[in-house]
Amino acid sequence: MIIDFHAHTGDMRGSPSEPRLPMTWERLIVFLDAHGIDRAVHLPVYNASPEGAPPAFAVTDARMSVHDQVIDALRYPDRIIPFGNVDPRWGGNHPDTDFGPVLDWFLDHGCTGVGEVTAHVPFDDPRVINLFRQCGDHGLLVTIESTGMIETGYGLMDDPGMPRLERLLRACPQTTIIGHGPGFWSEMSSDITPELKWSYPKGPLAGEGATWRLMRECPNLYADLSAMSGYNAITRDPPAGVRFLNEFQHKLLFGTDTCFADAQGYVGHREYLDGLLAQGALSPAAYDAIMAGNALRLLNGR
Ligand SMILES: [Zn+2]
Repeated sequence: MIIDFHAHTGDMRGSPSEPRLPMTWERLIVFLDAHGIDRAVHLPVYNASPEGAPPAFAVTDARMSVHDQVIDALRYPDRIIPFGNVDPRWGGNHPDTDFGPVLDWFLDHGCTGVGEVTAHVPFDDPRVINLFRQCGDHGLLVTIESTGMIETGYGLMDDPGMPRLERLLRACPQTTIIGHGPGFWSEMSSDITPELKWSYPKGPLAGEGATWRLMRECPNLYADLSAMSGYNAITRDPPAGVRFLNEFQHKLLFGTDTCFADAQGYVGHREYLDGLLAQGALSPAAYDAIMAGNALRLLNGR
């Protein structure tokens, strides 16, 4: 069993003339089949998130609403595990907004989580803590997108060392948060700088960074290995990557974050992990946990 914990559909081209193949539902199923992936967690990317949306979003894909993506996901009950999505600024941009009605709607429609949360505000913003607490109260997982304290871009923001994510984790102990994105994975090495926070740092680790510490100290923190950020984190220093995979084998989730249906941009997480299994660097038990076992435990039979 293989579960991709980070999948998308939609048209994420910057313009309609960009020569990329948008990911439709049908193409996502073909992608899963081609890579031997049994099921995928679908994270809605939506056109109401201004900093996350490419310029052509609203006109190139009319279905980029969270509602429609959750409803569409239900057409593939054997293959797709739906997540909802919420921006912490919705509902009037208050730190005490009641997200109960929308979270209840997600639960009523088979969602197991919320994400990825891409709002460009600090992790410890009261609006973020408010949303994440309510997700935990509803038994919904939350997948994050992360970056540094930069004016442009998207993703929840943090300083080097991830003090703001740590505050959020400790403020919401009942909420399972799934780490993802450059801001999270750039912290594998202790020599992090503000400039490196939103990048893909290369080379051997100077020492274990905040990613290791938070994974050890916070029982409510998990992480998906998807995208170039996750791949870079476990491959930049191969022996350290193997050590990380083994130590956190019960908290890591295989994922791809594939945004287009063409081969361009494909990151070979599956092939890399298969290679570690073949070399004996990962035990069959650790491999199975990362590829599906941890996901099944978090999804709790749903
Ligand atoms: Zn993503």
